[in-house]
Amino acid sequence: APDPEVEAVCRAAVVRVAAAGVGGVEAGPVLPDVIGPVARRFYGGMVPADRADREDDEQAARITPGLAEILRNAVDLVSPDSVEGARRAAQARHKLSRRRNHATLIYEASTRTARSFQAAKLRLGGEVVATAGGVKFSSVYKGENLADSVRAAGSYADVVVLRHPDVRSSYEAAYQLDQLTTRLGTRSVVISGGDGVGEHPTQALLDLFTIVDFQGSPDGRTVTLVGDLAHGRSVHSLAKLLALYGADGLRLELVSPESLRTPPGIIDFVSDRGVQVYETDSLEEVIGTSDVIYWTRVQQERFESEEDYEAIAGQFIMTPEVFAKASDDVILMHPLPRKHEMGTEADHAILDSDPRSVYFHQMQNGMYVRMALLAGVLGAHE
Ligand code: ASP
Repeated sequence: APDPEVEAVCRAAVVRVAAAGVGGVEAGPVLPDVIGPVARRFYGGMVPADRADREDDEQAARITPGLAEILRNAVDLVSPDSVEGARRAAQARHKLSRRRNHATLIYEASTRTARSFQAAKLRLGGEVVATAGGVKFSSVYKGENLADSVRAAGSYADVVVLRHPDVRSSYEAAYQLDQLTTRLGTRSVVISGGDGVGEHPTQALLDLFTIVDFQGSPDGRTVTLVGDLAHGRSVHSLAKLLALYGADGLRLELVSPESLRTPPGIIDFVSDRGVQVYETDSLEEVIGTSDVIYWTRVQQERFESEEDYEAIAGQFIMTPEVFAKASDDVILMHPLPRKHEMGTEADHAILDSDPRSVYFHQMQNGMYVRMALLAGVLGAHE
């Protein structure tokens, strides 16, 4: 369970705050303590362990301690509320100005993750080392492997944001960066920007942040995840993060066609941590009682055949008529991009103007959450 003190600070801090200015930061919500549990994905400053350890989430969680503390400090960084806080923010800014690069290694299409990391870094006063057009125009095009591309990025930048089609590629990258540390003395860390059908931890952070921002707390809430729950990495990470957050009385409803159900490992992970899980293929059954509806795209690029995709592509389409069945207090989320699963463009226009739709806030929150995360992993408060 989260440290109660951190929790109190962070829950109270879920407001839009005026910033005292970190390299041009103007305003933004500050980060609640939803982050500590997923620290395992962020390999900030940890001592190299062997590769086997990396493959165990729980182990990795233990070797990356104190992220809750780092993130509480990030609150200060954005909005110091005391002389002491302002002093710490000034010191942190000074440190960030010395350790301020991040490189993006984007092997798969990305709009929001890549751009919001870039924007976050620029707002924090740093620089981004990126290849225009992702890795397509780098040595990857010549056949270079992940390890060597990661080594190159890690020797030029302090943080490497990696999006890659292989599950666990971020673990591989973290391992390679630690090896590089022993050879070159670099101190780069990797942040996963999504690993194939595996996970998307920073998306989960911004999603949970958005839930806390709009619904106050996940305690006692019903969160309904809908769509391609088999291949959707954002829902995998969100389910795990909700479970790790330790919300009391949380109910997770998983709505998908039979062939696109949530991987059993994820169900076990959340059930073992006391979350009540309900799987169904009937949206009708659950839509009226949800507090959070999290809609997702059918991940077409993960299907082996066009026929398999076509067979289920038309299921679970969110339209204004479907949304009318949800409660007045619900929030509708979507990690985006959206396609036909949110209806036609005319449907989009109606859904977008519904005050219960928060997916654009969710998208913007990604930048704020990533700012705090970058400040944390760059050691702004060490
Ligand atoms: N943008 C999200 C992701 O990269 C969701 C999606 O692509 O459907 O996983």
